Amino acid sequence: MEIILNKLNGFCAGSSNTIKQAIRILEQYEEKIYCLGEILHNERVIGSLEDKGMITINSIDEVPDGAKLIFRAHGETKDNYLEVKNKNIMLFDFTCPKVKKIHDKVESNSKDSFVIIIGKKTHPEVVGTKSFAGDNSYVIENENDIDDCFNKVIESNLNSIYICSQTTYSSEKFNEITDFIQSKYDNYTYIIDNTTCPATKNRQDETSRLCDSVDAMIVIGGKHSSNTLELANIAREKLDKVFLVQDISDLEDIDLSNINKLGVSSGASTPNEVTNEIIDYINNKYN
Ligand code: SF4
Repeated sequence: MEIILNKLNGFCAGSSNTIKQAIRILEQYEEKIYCLGEILHNERVIGSLEDKGMITINSIDEVPDGAKLIFRAHGETKDNYLEVKNKNIMLFDFTCPKVKKIHDKVESNSKDSFVIIIGKKTHPEVVGTKSFAGDNSYVIENENDIDDCFNKVIESNLNSIYICSQTTYSSEKFNEITDFIQSKYDNYTYIIDNTTCPATKNRQDETSRLCDSVDAMIVIGGKHSSNTLELANIAREKLDKVFLVQDISDLEDIDLSNINKLGVSSGASTPNEVTNEIIDYINNKYN
């Protein structure tokens, strides 16, 4: 079996920076440091940081007075920034600069435009971004949400609409949805801002290209990782055999024996060492 690894793998710049900064402060302060939500969707990375003293929490209420708190790369809600400000907490804000820039653009455009965010309604990044948009805003997850969204646009009496995207959303789908919106609701002024992250888009494009030359694809990443799931969706558009795996144990029940060419791609929160372990496992078993 020939195994072809996607050219773009490993942590994106945002994930890589967050992990490096988290290690730096854990080593510098040598005390418990809290992180609101999973620092990224990889159990092994979370485990190694927790061994160094990081504690993953779900609410700022869990942070003791005077303690230190990490905001991860996904970004946080405006209310959470206010809550931290009003408490005796030392904040380490590791929000990816690209996500921060979207917060700023959303907040400034919301002054005179209705804000539409295209992405997954419950994704922490989207929840954070929407909080900067105020009431005149809506998250469109897919085509089925568009008419309901425009009922809200009509209620707002605004004639201008600013549309941006979750950073890990598919750039192609963003373009499809925004084209459809502009043709169906053509009596508004639009600011179309494709804020999908280039790191995400490039990896998606490379994955799609790789699918043209292989029989099956392994996509490596956390099962809750939005960008990993999107890579698997892109691969499934071209291939019948696409396997989403988090680590070697997920490969035990997968039969790859009839595959001549296998593509391997990984999400932006997958460490290279995990990808290498999986490739070694497949090589040992099938080659
Ligand atoms: S995918 Fe892009 S926006 Fe998201 S954390 Fe990585 S670099 Fe930042």
